Amino acid sequence: MPNTTDIIQNASRAGLVIPAFNVPYLPMIEPVIRAVVDCDCFALIATARLEWIKFESQGLRAVMEGFAKWEKPDHVRLHLDHVPVVDEDGLQVDYLRIIREAIELGYQSVMVDGSRLDLEGNIAATRQVVELAHSARISCEAELGAVLGHEAGPLPPYEELFNSGLGFTDVDEAKRMVAETGCDWLSVAIGNVHGAVSGALRDEKKVEAKLNLAHLQQLRDATGVPLVLHGGSGVRREYLLDAVKKGIAKVNVGTEIRQAYERALQASGSVGAAQQEVYERTCWLLRDYFGLAGTRSQITG
Ligand SMILES: [Zn+2]
Repeated sequence: MPNTTDIIQNASRAGLVIPAFNVPYLPMIEPVIRAVVDCDCFALIATARLEWIKFESQGLRAVMEGFAKWEKPDHVRLHLDHVPVVDEDGLQVDYLRIIREAIELGYQSVMVDGSRLDLEGNIAATRQVVELAHSARISCEAELGAVLGHEAGPLPPYEELFNSGLGFTDVDEAKRMVAETGCDWLSVAIGNVHGAVSGALRDEKKVEAKLNLAHLQQLRDATGVPLVLHGGSGVRREYLLDAVKKGIAKVNVGTEIRQAYERALQASGSVGAAQQEVYERTCWLLRDYFGLAGTRSQITG
């Protein structure tokens, strides 16, 4: 079987995208994997630090054990999403300890998020993690630019944010970042925003994000690596599909399936009903939104 680095490269070459589904609640793992298998797709199951701090994924080991129970190596891999160097609340994180633990537990790719540091700091932190990941022969994702939304408090008005290009990944910086760290994939900011995770905002419908595709093309040309789009929920479909043609090979999906789970659980009180809702939402995303049904063999070879 190809490793996750090859898988993302294959997707990139085939003009396809690999969705990474975040699982802030452990019962989401089973229906997401079932949907990926039933749609004959390939996807990553992902957990981020804030999902065990602010939600109920419980931690690296719990997610790994949940994944191992339902694992289908032809269809899914386990990815460690956002381990921030400085988190959404401004606190320093012992990111190396978390990433080392994930690698020991068998996570098949990792992400370090130094995007709240200056460029030099981001490069230095990312380079350390790339070395760790590569010595374990797994891939490392980095982030440059400000994909807003995880911080407490409301976003600035979206149109203003998009039109000003505030926080967008700088092309020259991206080129340096990839060259100097050796990261395998780069998460970029081109108009995408994260779903809110704090307080009452986490239940709100996300803004419909647009993407600056010309800027994306420049980033792809400058870096030469597969690019990652965070905040995949709520991006207008035509933008998303164009972005895949222009270099996005991995897209993170969190809010869309999290809110489906939470709403169904709240309405029914039944975890089984909430899982069914996640299954249906994930199938819809794979088939109708990303148009990926039946593409697995193009990706795994
Ligand atoms: Zn993200």
